[in-house]
Amino acid sequence: MSPYEHGEVYVLNDGGEVDLDLGNYERFLGTTLTKNHNLTTGKIYQSVITRERRGDYLGKTVQVIPHITDAIIEWIERVAAIPVDGTDRQPDVCIIELGGTVGDIESMVFLEALRQLEYRVGTDNFCHVHVSLAPEAGGEQKSKPTQHAVRELRAVGLPPHIIFCRSERPLDRNVMKKISQFCMVPPSHVISVHNVSNIMFVPLLLLEQHVPTLIFGQLKRTTMPVDDIPEWRNLAMSIDRAAETVRIAMVGKYTEFTDAYLSVNKSLYYAASHANRRLEIVWVDSVNLEQKMQATRPEVFEAEWKKLAAADGILVPGGFGNRGVEGMVLAAHYARKKKIPYLGICLGMQVAVIEYCRGELGLVTANSEEFDRDGTDNVIMYMPEIDPNTMGGNMRLGARTTIIARGSLAHYLYGQTVISERHRHRYEVNPKYIDRIHEAGGRFTGVDETCQRMEIFELPEEQHPFYIASQFHPEFLSRPLKPSPLFMGLVLAASKQFSRKVRHEKLPEDSSHPLHNFVWNPKAHGLSEETKVEVEAIRAKAHDGTGRDSDASSITAAAAAGGRRSFVTTPKLFIPCFLGESEGPSSSGQVASPIGPLGEHE
Ligand code: GLN
Repeated sequence: MSPYEHGEVYVLNDGGEVDLDLGNYERFLGTTLTKNHNLTTGKIYQSVITRERRGDYLGKTVQVIPHITDAIIEWIERVAAIPVDGTDRQPDVCIIELGGTVGDIESMVFLEALRQLEYRVGTDNFCHVHVSLAPEAGGEQKSKPTQHAVRELRAVGLPPHIIFCRSERPLDRNVMKKISQFCMVPPSHVISVHNVSNIMFVPLLLLEQHVPTLIFGQLKRTTMPVDDIPEWRNLAMSIDRAAETVRIAMVGKYTEFTDAYLSVNKSLYYAASHANRRLEIVWVDSVNLEQKMQATRPEVFEAEWKKLAAADGILVPGGFGNRGVEGMVLAAHYARKKKIPYLGICLGMQVAVIEYCRGELGLVTANSEEFDRDGTDNVIMYMPEIDPNTMGGNMRLGARTTIIARGSLAHYLYGQTVISERHRHRYEVNPKYIDRIHEAGGRFTGVDETCQRMEIFELPEEQHPFYIASQFHPEFLSRPLKPSPLFMGLVLAASKQFSRKVRHEKLPEDSSHPLHNFVWNPKAHGLSEETKVEVEAIRAKAHDGTGRDSDASSITAAAAAGGRRSFVTTPKLFIPCFLGESEGPSSSGQVASPIGPLGEHE
């Protein structure tokens, strides 16, 4: 899947590389999905062909109907039984999203499979929600596209039970009536899904129109779902209320197609929301920061640097290939020298390490093996988990444990010493350079269980107020009500609401202390028995998929003196920080915070 055409590749705990839509389901439903939850035409055909080769069809002619349709139904029924909420309970309801537009040739066979599925399980066990568009022309909402789509659905035997109508403004009463009449659904089943000031209002919009009751009514379920979702209401309202803006520069190379960084954008947005700031993402194309650009198109070069300089914080996200990497190194250098809050993710960490080695270790040719196979100082190297000689499938993918050094910025942010985060990379910090980097003051404060792979790089307080980078991708476990600690830290630091001094555990003075050893030489030290137990616990723990102890409901924000707000938390919380004037959770218990100009396109 090319990020240019498809948007981001979303990574699951089990290492599945899937469509970004699955990210939306994980984020909004708080579920942990598996690669099998992503059903593609290719997977279905492959399974049918494999069965045919095995002789499962006993030499009969293999056809789209019934073999492909049967395979789709079986797949859905199998996946529907997989527990997704951290318990071992089977889900009560399975949501099947059939993407695309009615009439797409690609989806015809799936429509037929779903028709058969409805017939098989019975209408009482099947609720078909059709999502359509009511565009506006000449100030008038049009119901025709919905009517035509539903006619097609009826023709294939799949009439909808509920219709969600996307529109700019609330759906006109007349349009609603028309849709109801022509599409044969009661008016109460035509739902207006119009634009709202921020995406967090969408669940509330659906709730107001009794969508859970309608769905559960169709499914003949007796336990009624929630009648209020105060935490969403608080978040949505606080986003609208935020007045101040935080500007984060995203330094990447796909900047013309920002869906490539969807989860990163969302993680920033969630963090900003909880930090009471409006988010402004400044897209900086790293290619334009490079010296070459200065020579060929100086005006572009200057404009790009101006954008970077105007940012409150800098984020270098993940990426592949060497185009634009030098520009990212320059951005990391700029952030380090100018003491601008920096978060590097995956490639963004590798770039930070390269920059540090060039700047502080005098290794002017420091680079990654990915970009210079025979480089003299490849401080980032190819370190596959499996077999270095296999070409395909050698990416380090999915959830892995990271052990965090006590007293580090990472520890401070996560409030935990063992975490689980998702990965998608091939290259790693070259162990040969670790000691020298530590001698210069840079710190690797997160390592994998073998202590071989460096997971987190950060600068100590004496060198920088907030400079941290991770080999893992924290964006995949960031949730609206539970933003990732690294993003939270970046946004708080960028909006001057972060101070590490609070509760910052100092490293023991005695350099022979095991803690010291761990921070400075994790490889030699290995894991303590105590840490091993923690690793096991986090693995076994029935969690909500974010791998973190903290509870989102424990996040509250306080209105501080003088109308300034800052992010505070209850004792168990994952990110204790704040301005001196913070006074603890506000009595209303509401989160006071912002929405950015960045639209959400879920
Ligand atoms: N290209 C780098 C690697 O393969 C970084 C990957 C990423 O940022 N996801 O290790």
